[in-house]
Amino acid sequence: LNYCRILPKVELHAHLSGSISEKTMIKLIKLKTDKNPDWQLSHADWQFHLKAVKGKSLEDVFLIFQLIQEISDSEEAAYVACKDVISEFAADNVKYLELRTTPRCIPKTGMTRRSYIESVLRAISECHSSDLGIEIRLLLAIDRRTSVKDAMEIVELAVEFMMKSGLVVGLDLSGDPTVNDASDFLPVLIKAKSAGLRLALHLAEVPDKAQETLPLLELPPDRLGHGTFLHKGDQSENMVGLVKKHKVPIEICVTSNLITSTVSKVEDLHFQYWYDRKHPVIICTDDKGVFSCSLSEEFALIAEAFKLSEQQLYDLSYDAIDYIFAGDDIKNKLQNEWKVFHSRHS
Ligand code: 5GP
Repeated sequence: LNYCRILPKVELHAHLSGSISEKTMIKLIKLKTDKNPDWQLSHADWQFHLKAVKGKSLEDVFLIFQLIQEISDSEEAAYVACKDVISEFAADNVKYLELRTTPRCIPKTGMTRRSYIESVLRAISECHSSDLGIEIRLLLAIDRRTSVKDAMEIVELAVEFMMKSGLVVGLDLSGDPTVNDASDFLPVLIKAKSAGLRLALHLAEVPDKAQETLPLLELPPDRLGHGTFLHKGDQSENMVGLVKKHKVPIEICVTSNLITSTVSKVEDLHFQYWYDRKHPVIICTDDKGVFSCSLSEEFALIAEAFKLSEQQLYDLSYDAIDYIFAGDDIKNKLQNEWKVFHSRHS
């Protein structure tokens, strides 16, 4: 674990709300209570909910997102949450972070999708101006429970902020994978891609999703979230064939897979399947707050289960730089930083 902690890392699959630590949740509860004295959810209630839903199933995990969104329903809360999440990743030696988040519109607090994005971008810009030593980019997420019309609005906002700030670099498709058909968003994603947004899509996260996964793989996406069941079940050959043909890197979130029971032990992860075939894999946290994990710990779990050497861990971390959505200037800067680390630790 020690080597994994000092290793410089890139984090490419982190949902903002899911990455909020318990410490920040307490801060957000206080913020919400100060503003709404009649708001009822006390800290004790919150802890009860947290324990009740933690570590059971994908369904339970989606329940907790609702609770987190309830305490982060204002521009100020989004800003506070984002700043804390970035600082925590920086403290774990993450040198480049791609956060993803679903723009939310909460009429009650006056927050709009636009003002939500602006708050998050303000937090990112302030972190860039500080001495945290971390580069951050943002992906806007489309929740698959949303309508195609709303998804189109998110694409328009993403294009606008990509042009304006340069910090929004892509789009994520996420949300409860058992609900709706992800391929309904094909026209939206085609539009996003042609406007220059990069695509990181949650696909084949649960079994038997070939029907929606195949058309989306034809896009092709620039990266794939989870993909736990690509190589299993009906039409797996076709899915694997497309992923290989387009060399789509796979973001693997170890603890997330364990807690949501999509695999029963680390050794059963799809990591081995793709790593053995020299296909690009990227180790990520997914929701470090909800799953109580860190990127260093995710690397350590992989190292232990698959008997990886320090050199192999370094290569995994270094190779991930190729798949970031920021430009070549940032890639070169990160690669140089990694090489300095390597020369000091080998
Ligand atoms: P937010 O977008 O509010 O910053 O982060 C929380 C949201 O990310 C959740 O409501 C959900 O839509 C999405 N999310 C977080 N973790 C997962 C995951 O493991 N799988 C999928 N499909 N979506 C997720």
